[in-house]
Amino acid sequence: MTLTEKDSQYLWHPYTQHKTSQTPIAISRGEGALLWDENDKQYIDAIASWWVNPFGHSNKFIADAIYKQLTTLEHVLFGGFTHEPAIKVAEKLIEILPENQQKIFFSDNGSTAVEVAIKVALQYFFNKGEKRTTIIAFENAFHGDTFAAMAASGISFYTQAFQGMFIDVVRIPVPEKGQEEASFEALKNVIQNHNCAGFIFEPLVQGAAGMVMYEPEALAKLIEICAANNVLTIADEVMTGFGKTGKTFAMDYVNVNPDMMCLSKALTGGTIPMAITTFTQEVFDAFYDDDINKALFHGHTFTANPTGCAAALASIELLQTDEMQANIERINKSHLEFQKKIENHSKVITARTLGVIFAVEIKSDSEESYYGSMRTKLYNFFIDKGVVLRPVGNIVYILPPYIMTDDQLQKVYKTIEEAIEMV
Ligand SMILES: *Cc1c(COP(=O)(O)O)cnc(C)c1O
Repeated sequence: MTLTEKDSQYLWHPYTQHKTSQTPIAISRGEGALLWDENDKQYIDAIASWWVNPFGHSNKFIADAIYKQLTTLEHVLFGGFTHEPAIKVAEKLIEILPENQQKIFFSDNGSTAVEVAIKVALQYFFNKGEKRTTIIAFENAFHGDTFAAMAASGISFYTQAFQGMFIDVVRIPVPEKGQEEASFEALKNVIQNHNCAGFIFEPLVQGAAGMVMYEPEALAKLIEICAANNVLTIADEVMTGFGKTGKTFAMDYVNVNPDMMCLSKALTGGTIPMAITTFTQEVFDAFYDDDINKALFHGHTFTANPTGCAAALASIELLQTDEMQANIERINKSHLEFQKKIENHSKVITARTLGVIFAVEIKSDSEESYYGSMRTKLYNFFIDKGVVLRPVGNIVYILPPYIMTDDQLQKVYKTIEEAIEMV
């Protein structure tokens, strides 16, 4: 049997209807922005493998750090024990995060980082003897696939089978250009009519919704409304963190700070699954008590895995090099030029760029669903041309590893232009 035949016999893939989906491509190796399949066909990874891989595949610097940690201390339980890699990651993050973030809690993936933040928001008020049970979230948000994260997510076909089984979430519109006031008013209304514990949002860019963007000033206003009403704010930077928006964190564009932040994806440069939720001292203090019942009873077996921590430290070190910062700027400039070139194309609705994130919405005759026919046509066209892009309905976005070369980037643009002509 071939690899793909064995795959279809044994495996169940994420977000996949196995009866109608195409067989997956078996990838055998990766280097830089490139992947090769089992037949040695080459692909440009233009979405950094679901946004996790800013420094390129099979990165030697991170691999060496992982190897060194694996042969020193691969893992130790984090209940009752600690270790230098975790402390170093915490120290480093507290240095680069918004200044009010003071406490670091480890978990395993973006969904658990969100799960922890939501549980903390709810228990924060429980610990203070106040009953607040509503979480506020944006329309079309994506915060992950575990239960509380899923409840906060608004993309309906991910969640429709579980309606009625969720924690209480109320949604407000995203403050896109021209809709800011409606968003502010909706937030004020929700806060007035519900016992709101927290507001969770993807700062400045909603990734899974199709790289939907909005301005820092609008987010600042929403956070201020929450702060004035003692509603905790949670910045889900799982996608936007570690340079994607052109700054270390999207929140670096916003002149007010959130109470909590969620980090994962690029945290370890796409090597070891790990996530972090960060908190203000004030949030932490609501759990700090002689009463054991006020503790946060949440943890995962692999919490603060030292190998993951070593990968995170190496990744942050790479991010902070002048070379990587120059790469981010180079890609941003290149995106802006490409945006200018295609935004007036007759088949283009809009194009947008922030940092290394670029998205273009293509005109279509029919209402495009997330996994609709245009999406399939586009996806297959890109794969055929050796470019990994995963359109969201009629939206094609690029989120390249920062080390992608100019030639590779130009090939991605050219392929997108050809696709626009083709559909
Ligand atoms: C991907 C993502 C998550 C979920 O992360 P997983 O590691 O897939 O569980 C949560 N929030 C945002 C904004 C994401 O992009």
